Amino acid sequence: MTMSTDSEIYDCIVVGSGTAGAVIARELSRSGQKVLILERGPYIPLKETLWTLGSMFNEVPVADKLKDARVYAAGGSSAMFMAVMDEPPIDAYRALGIDLQPAYDAMRLQVPLAEMADALMSPQAHRVREAALALGYDWKKKLMLIDQSKCSGVYSYEAKWKALSFVDEAVRLGAVLKCQALTERVLIENGRAVGVECRIKKEAVKFRAERVIVCAGSLATPLLLRGSGLQHVAAGGYYIDPSFTLFGRVPGLGGVDSFCGTMETTLEEGIVLKDANVHKLPFRMFMLQYMQISRMFAYPESIGVTVMAHDEVGGGLSADGRYNKTLDAAVFDKLAHGEQAARAILERAGAGDIFKAPMFSGGALGTLRVGSDVDARLETSVRDLYVCDGSLIPENGRVAPTLTLLCLAKYLADILTQTRHLPAEAEAVPA
Ligand SMILES: Cc1cc2nc3c(=O)[nH]c(=O)nc-3n(C[C@H](O)[C@H](O)[C@H](O)COP(=O)(O)OP(=O)(O)OC[C@H]3O[C@@H](n4cnc5c(N)ncnc54)[C@H](O)[C@@H]3O)c2cc1C
Repeated sequence: MTMSTDSEIYDCIVVGSGTAGAVIARELSRSGQKVLILERGPYIPLKETLWTLGSMFNEVPVADKLKDARVYAAGGSSAMFMAVMDEPPIDAYRALGIDLQPAYDAMRLQVPLAEMADALMSPQAHRVREAALALGYDWKKKLMLIDQSKCSGVYSYEAKWKALSFVDEAVRLGAVLKCQALTERVLIENGRAVGVECRIKKEAVKFRAERVIVCAGSLATPLLLRGSGLQHVAAGGYYIDPSFTLFGRVPGLGGVDSFCGTMETTLEEGIVLKDANVHKLPFRMFMLQYMQISRMFAYPESIGVTVMAHDEVGGGLSADGRYNKTLDAAVFDKLAHGEQAARAILERAGAGDIFKAPMFSGGALGTLRVGSDVDARLETSVRDLYVCDGSLIPENGRVAPTLTLLCLAKYLADILTQTRHLPAEAEAVPA
């Protein structure tokens, strides 16, 4: 294999162009820095077709037989997300020495963030809401990352915010985007990150920069750090919030293509019930996968509720690069409790023929720790090597991660624009 070195020296290399990487690349480009974005996936103009989504979809085993879904493409996993948001866990980050509030104040002005208007909610979502409220559940609206002015009463893929729009903006501002560029190693000299080694097609290429920011996603980033010599990282386990969905049928409901997850309730600490009225394309894909062929054609009369429970933090990353975790017994009790409530809601909504779909990972997050793997500036034990992605969502601040990542990335970008290099003796990072 040939090895070449790019002659340019960038201010900053961003590895991964998902939610966090896109924000950082855009912010640093805005501030005039010379930014290189390295993305392992292709650049695909986003359309919600089976072929497009299938070509970027990737899964990683994370616990028992469960796999976590992610996207390999410019813009990362937001190409496929449901756009359901949670407020960032400001207090959990504050306890770690990170103040996300200014970043949150800034970011909420830059993205379309609001609860879904009643008029844009589907008959399925209304039906589930009425039933949940009638049973006394506090069935509340979620924030959605959707430009509702682009919606006309039914689901619209185009209306959802996507990180690719920020990647495109970074490129317009001068960032260099290299796709199908798999970063294999961070180059470290004298305890300092000086660039990365990347595989582009069959060629190995070295890129050099003043700073490297790894935003490869919660499962890829620990692997990349370990592969770069930071063997001590990701020693604290992770969580996956196992979940499953109950689907039922309400004859004559007249459902339309629906935004999923617009409402939810916390049943008790660590058990959440969510609207699962997903739009038609994934609904049909799920039913095919579950061999529920007759349901595939019964979308207008189908309603659903997802049960999600918090598992204990545990498991780890083995020396051969595999994630492994055994779910604790308590989480199954929580899921069983949630199932009873979800069934009651569906029955109250008039649904029959209830089907429980297989369990899935609700998101493998928190693989790294602020305090041991990175400091409060998100810098690792290697100077000028930073991390920002779903690996840093803390266990006591579990949220739908996207809005938090928008803020965490803005927080880091502000640090990187305000402070160029600290003197070497100011290094204050755990080993
Ligand atoms: C089906 C689905 C539905 C979801 N729904 C929601 C939701 O409703 N609300 C919510 O908040 N979140 C949701 N999420 C989760 C959310 O999309 C992700 O948590 C979030 O996008 C993570 O952002 P990130 O920046 O950490 O990583 P990602 O967005 O995954 O980006 C990482 C990027 O790094 C690239 N990469 C990886 N390794 C390398 C490497 N070695 N070299 C170069 N590039 C690399 C990847 O190709 C990818 O583009 C959903 C996810 C999925 C899959």
